[in-house]
Order: sequence, then structure tokens, then C-alpha cells
Amino acid sequence: MIAFMELFHPTGNIHYFHKADALESLSHSTDNRDRILTEIEVSMSIASSNSQLEDQLNVTVIGAGIVGSAIAYSLAKRGAAVTIVDKGPPGSGATSHSFAWINATAKHPVSYHAFNCRSLGMWDRFARDLDVDVGLRWGGQLEWAATEEGAAELKSRAELLHAWGYPCQILNAAQMARLEPSLTPRTVTTAIYSELDGMVEPTLASEALVRAAVQHRATARLETEVTDLSMNSGSGTVIAGTERINADVVVLAGGVDNTLLGEMAGITIPQQESPGVVIRTNPIAEPLLTNLSVVYAPPLEAGRPEIHIRQCLDGSAMIGEGTQESLARDDTQGHADELLSRASEYVPGLEWAVAIPVPVGYRPMPLDGFPVVGFSPKAPSVYLALTHSGVTLAPLISQLATMEIVDGAQVELLNDYRPSRFDQI
Ligand SMILES: Cc1cc2nc3c(=O)[nH]c(=O)nc-3n(C[C@H](O)[C@H](O)[C@H](O)COP(=O)(O)OP(=O)(O)OC[C@H]3O[C@@H](n4cnc5c(N)ncnc54)[C@H](O)[C@@H]3O)c2cc1C
Repeated sequence: MIAFMELFHPTGNIHYFHKADALESLSHSTDNRDRILTEIEVSMSIASSNSQLEDQLNVTVIGAGIVGSAIAYSLAKRGAAVTIVDKGPPGSGATSHSFAWINATAKHPVSYHAFNCRSLGMWDRFARDLDVDVGLRWGGQLEWAATEEGAAELKSRAELLHAWGYPCQILNAAQMARLEPSLTPRTVTTAIYSELDGMVEPTLASEALVRAAVQHRATARLETEVTDLSMNSGSGTVIAGTERINADVVVLAGGVDNTLLGEMAGITIPQQESPGVVIRTNPIAEPLLTNLSVVYAPPLEAGRPEIHIRQCLDGSAMIGEGTQESLARDDTQGHADELLSRASEYVPGLEWAVAIPVPVGYRPMPLDGFPVVGFSPKAPSVYLALTHSGVTLAPLISQLATMEIVDGAQVELLNDYRPSRFDQI
């Protein structure tokens, strides 16, 4: 859990910064200390002019994961008076457990694939707006098979992606070795390479998005739990800690807790339980992969799931098994050691790494697996934003949500993902 220092300002706004960053900078250099103090002063002077304009739309966003923080920033940038409320620090929910592979590779049907593709294409510009390197790296995803059956499955997947216009190369063992010389893949019957895919550090991105929203006069109430919602036809009140926050629109971006938050407003948001485990290693100084961002390797023994591996911005590796939707609950040290040992068979740079188990993370997962985005027909001042693949989809969902909330648009692209599809449940 990231420690935050909070600075209370007479306006009631909370400004925050990393305690670790602050302490490190204070102990290391006067320059850094001055920089941090200047940042705080800038935030404070912005906050002191943060009086709400009469005609300004007042929006409270519950949840500062990658989805909520992206929406909050986008709304604040468009001039809405935004209050962000989270019971923890930004990006500490599902976002902190995410493998954070930005992709449109494993998405069906074609309309959902295209939805992901569009968001993937927005990530570069989205990250460029932020004040730190959030670890956005391209390089593509490689997956290979060790059996003829696996090869047939990969080829048919590549054919489908070709039909949908998504670049996906079919490679033989020699071509794969040229693409990624750092791997020791053992048997390769076929490999496929999705060159558009990438990765990011979603917690860093959530933190940066909240900071950017605050720069646009948003107020952040962190470590503050929402315990009740009272919605009327054109407005609502959010009970957050000891405070009552009035809003024209309340955005529910609480991830798995959206079901509970929805109940507070009389809305049904059904979800599947979707536990997942992605372990980490200690930071490794050398790059593990030469060209790629994400690798999917076949099982070492028949009947076991494939494993996926990527290296994070701080040098640590993330390793998971199965797909990004696979259910997993084993968060023991033994399982973490086993995943690392399987991964180091293929990625020699992991040989001396130490496995760090990570507790089970729960994916926000709507009942039918597809995003739930839009105003609720049952509580018209509530805007819902619940999705799997939220790391890939945050740029697009935040943009479309802002168009609907600020401009009053009805975005047809969201028609398949409307909350009303669960009205009969
Ligand atoms: C193991 C795993 C692997 C994944 N891999 C990928 C991947 O490779 N690619 C990809 O695109 N996606 C992936 N995902 C999915 C992706 O991480 C999520 O879709 C995304 O993080 C959801 O973000 P969110 O902001 O909606 O939810 P969260 O990150 O969960 O944020 C919700 C926030 O709401 C806050 N909150 C909840 N209730 C309250 C309350 N009552 N009061 C105040 N605050 C509240 C929480 O504290 C939390 O910070 C993965 C997820 C998991 C778990």
C-alpha cells in the first residue's frame, strides 16, 4: 500500500503526495525538496482559487482506480467541478493487481475487439498528458505453442484477427528467435505476434491522473469511504466519511464495489466473482526481453495452463497463468515460487529472481463480461462505469463518459454496454 501525506487546505481540499517520494527527496537533495515544495505550493494556489462557478457541472466520482481517475481527469479538464472520493489511495483496488497488458488481441466479438482497439490507439496521447513516466511501453505480445494442437489454435486466432484488420504475424521458430533473442522457448510449433499491444503501470497512471485532475481544480478525498448515496431526479448526495457531498452527477467507478454502491442508489449491477493472481519478483536491473512487452508461454507439461510474463518499469517481473480472465486463488509463496520457476525456463534473466506473492485480486467483472457504461435509467443522476480490461479501456471510456456527462451526448458506440440490459434481473 502506498503511503500518502495529506495536506489540508482551508478550502477543504486535500492535496497529497507520496510520503516515500517526499522523504526520499528530503533526504537526498535540496533541489528535489524544493521541487516537491513548489509542487505543493502550486497545488495550494490552484486550490485557493477553486471556488465553483454558478453554471459549473458538479460531479462526484467514486473510485480512483484507472477507470475513475481517468474519468475524473477528463471531466475536470472539460471544466466540471469534480470531487474524487476513494477509500484508499489512487490505483489501490483491482488496478494494483492488474497484469496491465494493453490489448485488443483476446477480445470477442468484433465490436468489442474494435472498442478495445480504439482505446489502445488512444493510450499514447492519454499518457503524454501526464506529468510522469507511467511505464507505457509498446513492443507487442508474443505467444507460442509447443504442440500441433496449440499451433492450430494460434493459427485460427491469427486468421480471425487478420479478418478483423488487427496485425498479427504467424512466425516459425527461427523468425521468433530473431524477433525476441532473449527467450529460450524450447519447442516451437508456431508463434503469433500482435505487434500493436503494449503495457503500462496502471497505479502510477491512476496517481498521475488524480494529480492532473487536481491541477484542473478537482478535489480529492482519499482514504475516505462512501457509506451511503441519496439520489433525487436531478442531483444526489454522497455520504463520504463525515461529509455530505452534493453533486449533479455521481459517477460510480468503484470496481467490484460498484454492485454495493449501486444498491445504495437502488440500481442492480450484477457481477461475476473473478479472482486472479499475478505475482511479482524483486526488481531486476537488466531488461528481461529485448523487443517485446508481453510474452505468453506454453505449459511445460500437458494439462497445465500457459503463463504470461512482463517486466515493469521498476525492473520487477509480473507473472500469471492462464488468460487474463482465468480464475485463480492460490496466493501462497509456494505457488509464486512455482510460477517463477516455470517462467525462468523461458526467460533466462529470471534465473536469480526472487518470487514475491501478491494477494488475490478481484477483477471488476460484469455478469456478461462486457462493460457497463452510461446513465442509469433507474437513477438518472448516476453514471455507471464498470468494466473488465479497464487498463486497456480507460482512455476511451473516460472520453465517452465525459461526452455523455458534459455534452449531453448519447454515444452510439456504447449502445451494447448500457446498464439497462440488467433491468430485468
Ligand atoms: C489479476 C488481474 C489481471 C488483469 N489483467 C488485465 C490486463 O492485462 N489488461 C487489462 O486491460 N485489464 C486487466 N485487468 C482488469 C483491470 O485491472 C480492471 O478492469 C481495472 O483495474 C478496473 O479499474 P477500476 O478503476 O474500475 O477499478 P479499481 O481499480 O478496483 O478501482 C475502484 C476504486 O474504488 C474504490 N472504492 C470502492 N468502493 C468505495 C467506497 N465505498 N468508497 C470510496 N471508494 C471506494 C476502491 O478503493 C478502488 O480504488 C486485470 C485485473 C486483475 C485483477
